Amino acid sequence: MSSDNTQLVDRDLAVLWHPCSQMKDYESLPMIPIRRGQGPWLEDFDGKRYLDAISSWWVNLFGHANPVINRAIRDQLESLEHVILAGFTHEPVVRLSEELVALSPPGLTRCFYADNGSSAVEVAIKMSFHFWRNQGHSRKTRFVTLGNSYHGETLGALAVGDVELYKEIYRPLLMDTLMVPSPDCFHREQGESWEAYSRRQFAHMEQCLQQHGDEICAVIVEPLVQCAGNMRMYHPIYLSLLREACNRHGVHLIADEIAVGFGRTGTLFACEQAGITPDFMCLSKGLTGGYLPLSVVLTTDPIYAAFYDDYDTLKAFLHSHSYTGNPLGCTAALATLEIFRSRDVLGRNAELARHMAASVADLQDHPHVGEIRQHGMILAIEMVRDRAGREPFPWQQRRGLEVYRHGLDQGVLLRPLGNVVYFMPPYVIEETEIDLMARVAAEGIDLATGLKTAV
Ligand SMILES: *Cc1c(COP(=O)(O)O)cnc(C)c1O
Repeated sequence: MSSDNTQLVDRDLAVLWHPCSQMKDYESLPMIPIRRGQGPWLEDFDGKRYLDAISSWWVNLFGHANPVINRAIRDQLESLEHVILAGFTHEPVVRLSEELVALSPPGLTRCFYADNGSSAVEVAIKMSFHFWRNQGHSRKTRFVTLGNSYHGETLGALAVGDVELYKEIYRPLLMDTLMVPSPDCFHREQGESWEAYSRRQFAHMEQCLQQHGDEICAVIVEPLVQCAGNMRMYHPIYLSLLREACNRHGVHLIADEIAVGFGRTGTLFACEQAGITPDFMCLSKGLTGGYLPLSVVLTTDPIYAAFYDDYDTLKAFLHSHSYTGNPLGCTAALATLEIFRSRDVLGRNAELARHMAASVADLQDHPHVGEIRQHGMILAIEMVRDRAGREPFPWQQRRGLEVYRHGLDQGVLLRPLGNVVYFMPPYVIEETEIDLMARVAAEGIDLATGLKTAV
């Protein structure tokens, strides 16, 4: 590694503690200091470039240093960087709310802001619980969540998630939830369709709602793709059935679209594919095009109305974050929505999605590929020890890390989740770049599964 890279790494290791990292791993696999970004590319201090195949943790939509978003933020910076949102307002937050209400599923008419995804999930959970309190339903205290789900790292968000690796150690600190088996179609029978399996798995949800409906505040789901849960996917029918059942049992539906929102699954919001409106929709990540931390919970008139009363009834939602509705974040979000308006983003994405599928078609018959699955701009390749029985590689072997290493070596940022290699690139990626990403992923999978040894 060059001296410029190394210098910054040494300074970093002296003072930083990195997210989602065993810091000791950096002894054998150094971090990469990034000097600049351009489109789907990142560049280190050595001038080496990396194709950002994972949109910098699923946030970036239209590339790094996007001229439209850059300009908007610069302009906003000249007039107002931030102001308290309690008792005050500003134009970016009003315009953004108007646009989000217009774009989101019908019936979502109110925007409550926070500054990251986990906080949005906390807001939705608290609002749902508080709504039922305000309505006199004090028995409703529980939340239903899907197996293999992920909703963030703060304690409330962690409690409604189910990724063992992040959750297990903190279990004594977490509220008790009702966990229902996931509709994750990786587990469908041979020959069974996604739809049939998702429908079949819904029986567990129906049973849970029937049994516990009167103590349940809400069901929380990641629509269509359980991203942190190894990019496992299911059919929209599950969401349609869930919406109907929640109505029938008097339970809220929280759609956590933090990762899948803003076109990732092919539609602007994943819920659209089921034609449903959730009671709460959480957005973050792509909301600002990957520029600034901002999140929002959209909800309905009836929920808003249940909090609207004289102060001394103590029905108000007194939740806040210092940077709630930050003007620079809202401006980045407005510029992002402007890009959606000015080009046929979803149409282009459909082409790119087809190209991604074709680029990995050869892996379909790979002896260590158990499944290739895709919803729009999210494509995942599941490595398995044994193809027929879909037997997983033991996690301790860290096969994905081999793919990660090979990717970095070849200038592609892939960051497998366990044994799952996936693509979730910025929408400005080109076909030739997809081909590069696919070739490097395929080589990495060969290396990691022992089909070929490194030369
Ligand atoms: C990333 C993510 C979150 C948490 O968002 P943060 O901004 O990282 O707190 C919540 N839910 C889903 C589905 C996510 O992918």
